[in-house]
Amino acid sequence: MSNPNRENNSVSQTSVNTFGRGLDRSFVEAIVREVITSRLFSSKLNQETDDNNICSFTPKLVVSISARHIHLTNKDVKTLFGYDELKKMKDLYQDGFFAAEETLMIVGPRRRMLPTVRILGPTRSETQVELAFTDAISLGIDPPVRESGNLEGSPGCVLVGPKGVVELKRGVIRAERHVHMNKNEAAFYGVKDKDRMMLRVSSGGCTTTFENLLVRIGEGLKLEVHIDTDEGNAADLEHADKVELIRSNYCSVAA
Ligand SMILES: [Zn+2]
Repeated sequence: MSNPNRENNSVSQTSVNTFGRGLDRSFVEAIVREVITSRLFSSKLNQETDDNNICSFTPKLVVSISARHIHLTNKDVKTLFGYDELKKMKDLYQDGFFAAEETLMIVGPRRRMLPTVRILGPTRSETQVELAFTDAISLGIDPPVRESGNLEGSPGCVLVGPKGVVELKRGVIRAERHVHMNKNEAAFYGVKDKDRMMLRVSSGGCTTTFENLLVRIGEGLKLEVHIDTDEGNAADLEHADKVELIRSNYCSVAA
């Protein structure tokens, strides 16, 4: 996890922050208009939610680059490191998740390898390797774009640790771009689990809109988009001025 979380505020929060510049009447009126417009826009997006709910909060959107990483089973931790528990290096933005001190070497076909790939905790029921496409090219494999945990038919690799080696028959994927949120945030955007949204990253010279962002709703989650290093670099996320989540409005018509 070499890239830090990048935090951006919504339009209405930005307006509130500009109060410090002065409080002349036209400026205040402009802010009020902007806030009202953004509320109307929200209410169009989400007709099921009542007005009080829409106005009560504006979710803080965080967009994070998820660099290549590995999730391990307890058994594979033991085999690779010779002990039971991963050592926590730092907490991730989502509560309960962490980057471990431990790294592994990943070896692909024809002995091509990535030398120090970070492990993320906690442990899981199946070992999984998440790579960006550029990582996969340097390793010499062609993993599918998948939702985390869906490993059917994915290629394997060899993991090399200080105390042992694990040969995976499957488990290497390119993680599908996605957004984590809780049910209040889902109500704000008017989306449900497994829906698709769009992410617009505004950055000088390479503003990019990502489609097909998978919505994953869960108790206790914080609003956070995960994209991989290739995606983040393509949009120059590090220098972005603004990020926005947009509900996809495609109509599906039954044939
Ligand atoms: Zn994620």
